[in-house]
Amino acid sequence: MRIKIFWDPQAPVGLQRPAVRGLSSLLAMPVEMAEHRFFLNGFDPSRNQYDAQKILSRIQLYKRQQGITEPVLLVVSQDLCLPRQDFVFGLARESVGAAVVSIARLENRFYGREDDHADLVGRLVREGAHEIGHLFGLEHCASRECVMHHPATLGELDRKKAFCSACRARLTSAEGIDRI
Ligand SMILES: [Zn+2]
Ligand SMILES: [Zn+2]
Repeated sequence: MRIKIFWDPQAPVGLQRPAVRGLSSLLAMPVEMAEHRFFLNGFDPSRNQYDAQKILSRIQLYKRQQGITEPVLLVVSQDLCLPRQDFVFGLARESVGAAVVSIARLENRFYGREDDHADLVGRLVREGAHEIGHLFGLEHCASRECVMHHPATLGELDRKKAFCSACRARLTSAEGIDRI
């Protein structure tokens, strides 16, 4: 089984290779870019953001139409939100193996700082791996350095390093289970 990465056309192409490499290394699983053809839905003009739940429903439909059974992570550059939440870095729906992550709030420029390629790649890899972790049934972790810690701010996100030993064990055991 390979994790499939869908890349929105508006997301920077230069991040694709380092993101796939980083995700594969952090998850210790095969990860590959995959073609997809659908437009993002869920845009809310009053917030200038996309509803992450509606994007997941779009991925869910596309997976069913295309007969894709592998976990899918969609990378977008647009800012994501939920009806009752100002923003989310990403969102995952375990039951259908669909996740989305946005780079909008992972870029230094969003916080008025100078952009840095390595910062952005590292954050995208950690947050992408976090959402994929949810697809394998992992929940939020209290350890601040664990990828499965739920970050409220960029500072908290930057404190994360890798999966803690407990989450790593759960990820490894979940990977062996055949899921439909
Ligand atoms: Zn989470
Ligand atoms: Zn953990």
